[in-house]
Amino acid sequence: MANTLSKLNQDFPILNQTVNDEQLVYLDNAATAQRPNQVIEALTHFYQTDNANVHRGVHTLAERATADYEEARRKLQAFINAPEPEEVIFTKGCTDGLNLVASTYGEANIKAGDEIVISIMEHHSNLIPWQQLAIRKHATLKYIHLTDDGELDLDETAQLITDKTKIVAVAHASNVMGTVNPVKQLAALAHQHGAIFVGDGAQSVPHMKVDVQDLDVDFYAFSGHKMMGPTGIGVLYGKRELLEAMPPYQFGGEMIGFVHQFDSTWAELPYKFEAGTQNIAGAVGLGAAADYLTNIGMDQVQAHEQAIVNYLLPKLEAIDGVTVYGPQDPAKHTGVIAFNLNDLHPHDVATALDMEGVAVRAGHHCAQPLMEYLGLTATARASFYLYNTQADADRLLEALQETKEFFNHGTSETK
Ligand code: PMP
Repeated sequence: MANTLSKLNQDFPILNQTVNDEQLVYLDNAATAQRPNQVIEALTHFYQTDNANVHRGVHTLAERATADYEEARRKLQAFINAPEPEEVIFTKGCTDGLNLVASTYGEANIKAGDEIVISIMEHHSNLIPWQQLAIRKHATLKYIHLTDDGELDLDETAQLITDKTKIVAVAHASNVMGTVNPVKQLAALAHQHGAIFVGDGAQSVPHMKVDVQDLDVDFYAFSGHKMMGPTGIGVLYGKRELLEAMPPYQFGGEMIGFVHQFDSTWAELPYKFEAGTQNIAGAVGLGAAADYLTNIGMDQVQAHEQAIVNYLLPKLEAIDGVTVYGPQDPAKHTGVIAFNLNDLHPHDVATALDMEGVAVRAGHHCAQPLMEYLGLTATARASFYLYNTQADADRLLEALQETKEFFNHGTSETK
């Protein structure tokens, strides 16, 4: 398998540590990725040399900080191939971006009787904003369900999206089952019916080449911290004509044209949607993360993770007592794998794996409707990234065997 990325480890000092006397294997990347030195250094450099508030100042540091911030925007524009930098809005993260669209576009365009279509595999961040919008507007929220293989039921989708549909909002990749959804096809279907398509890119942008023009999505949100950038920064891409027609999200400094006592006008894009002092250093750090990924190449990142999944998935499924949720076909998977071990509670499994130095997540993964649909309360979840290796997959497999034996016999020493 492609192991060429394994030497990247040296860029991630955090990975070079022991946990519970075992070498750490970090498999919780779907929750947050680790940051390479290059991102940490970009943050430090910004704070040590250029830090000032942006846009308002004429002094040298303010000009430098502004240049850094706007350069970061252009890096993110290039990273997702957005047509214009003004279509790249800096947000707090994916959740913030999706709420922005629901609160502004949704508020302005949804009326009683309209329909919003999402999928049952959505993260709460791409579910609750639409659910609450539907409640506020007396609109109808409809769900696309899944095939037995954890993929969207496209026959049902074709029935669900009608001329009543105004918004279709679906994750590009599931944060639970790793399923990659056919976003380009869904966006085209939405457009055929005069609806807009909102993509949740939290689990796709860090792991595959995303081209918003090719996908022809109307909005697309993602988080910096899952692509090795800082926390508290993310991007909302939106098509210019939609962003221009939308009311602002929040009011305050930076987002205004003129403020009079009893009315105000708004700044041009993207500032209309960036009220108040933004996470300037975060944007700079995110720009550095985009550079880091671009230097490696997103195709290579994807191929690397794919190779690990190709290797791991059949071996994981072969362990007696392990149930894997999601596509059986490794090619349809990102590096996110949800599983359970016998009837053990996934928290116990995750705790036992941690004793072996292997960090995985357990719980409902902010996807309670999906859990309910699958008839589960929780799963364990291993999620891989570019610095993980086949050896990490082996460590997970070994640690699972240990865990199984421990719970079978009361102690791992009895085997
Ligand atoms: N959507 C998906 C698919 C996610 O995995 C996540 C994060 N787990 C989010 C949205 C929300 O991202 P954030 O918490 O960074 O806003």
